[in-house]
Amino acid sequence: MVRVARVEQGSIAEEIGMTPGTEIITVNDRTIKDFLDWEFLSADDELVVEARHPDGEQIIYEIERVDGEPLGISLEPPTVRRCANRCEFCFIEGLPKGLRRNLYVRDDDYRLSFAYGNFATLSNVKERDIARILEYRLSPLYVSVHATNWAARKVLLNNPRVPDIIGQLRRLAAGGIQFHCQMVVVPGLNDGVILEESLSDLWELGDAVLSAAVVPVGITQFSHLYTGEAMSRSRAAELLTRVERWAGRARRERGQAWVFGSDELYLLAGQELPPAEHYGEFAQIENGIGSITSLRMRVAGGSDELPRIDNLCVGVVTGMAMAELMPPLLARLTVSTGARFELIPVVNSLFGPTITTAGLLVGADIERALSGRTDLDIALIPAETLNDDRVFLDDVVFDELRDILPMPVFPSYDFVDVLASEQLAVPA
Ligand code: SF4
Repeated sequence: MVRVARVEQGSIAEEIGMTPGTEIITVNDRTIKDFLDWEFLSADDELVVEARHPDGEQIIYEIERVDGEPLGISLEPPTVRRCANRCEFCFIEGLPKGLRRNLYVRDDDYRLSFAYGNFATLSNVKERDIARILEYRLSPLYVSVHATNWAARKVLLNNPRVPDIIGQLRRLAAGGIQFHCQMVVVPGLNDGVILEESLSDLWELGDAVLSAAVVPVGITQFSHLYTGEAMSRSRAAELLTRVERWAGRARRERGQAWVFGSDELYLLAGQELPPAEHYGEFAQIENGIGSITSLRMRVAGGSDELPRIDNLCVGVVTGMAMAELMPPLLARLTVSTGARFELIPVVNSLFGPTITTAGLLVGADIERALSGRTDLDIALIPAETLNDDRVFLDDVVFDELRDILPMPVFPSYDFVDVLASEQLAVPA
């Protein structure tokens, strides 16, 4: 069952009398269990929708529309399917206590994998789910493989009941489903021969595996389950050697790199990141694969068009991981704009010093970095630190923080987005 959250004004749905709170029971005699059923089964132009109004009245809508005109409803958010694993490296197990509740939800949901690119292990899919994936052609899926070796995967996911992932992938691939895969690598568990076996098995799946990412385990000071070792510089370098050997083969035989080390892996190994061509369509950029290269591209592509803001003093807050990479980008922005940029790297106070990603900085970090800085004309902070409601992970509300800081503060993805905008009408 799904329920209507919003009805657009002037839409078909409003015209026929649907209201927020209406439950949709069937469409063309097929039961609607979730948003996927609705999305796929309501695609026809002729629909018979059985629904129940918030007052309990059952009603049948007969709808005829032209060329897929939108019905004009949005649904309440789906109930997320929870994860049945207990990985030692799970980032959610490494969250400090006291954060908002939804941050602790361990989702493992193939539906969200298809709809939003969330990674899922497929360890909780049942036969009926496989049938739906195939019927609705839910492709590509984002799959946390970690290891194709079944025994190793049971250990990694800390779950003796996980199904054989390579069997699942083969079956789905035979039905035309494609995948973006990731392996989170724990030293001693799924590096070395296990990683080699995983890459080999995924390679054998041919076109079905669109990309494979190798990501180092990330642990915080609160990762209480983790008994393994941290990823060292030499291990990161060893992983990259393996990744690049496979990527070389993929370029020769398939014309694209196919397997990618995450940006963090290159930073840990102290190696230069690959150029933009390496990443093709940046298929796993949300997974930290090529995001630094993409940032460099956006700065290079946009800085020449920026307006002059000579002598403006701009503070740039970032995480420790980016501190070494930023100076060339900021130097380029200085040439284009005439502004002076001051890099302000900040240690993460919530997760501890092992978490160096800019996007995981919290409101308290930003406040510590910027309060008292009356010498700055403006400050840029990583936009990824905020959710859709403009709230940091530690529940600090951006607008409230901005009001108490001594300079205008702008969330920014790539500097160019803010420096090019009208909002920067700050007197120099
Ligand atoms: S699969 Fe592992 S890492 Fe992912 S949510 Fe479940 S326990 Fe956490």
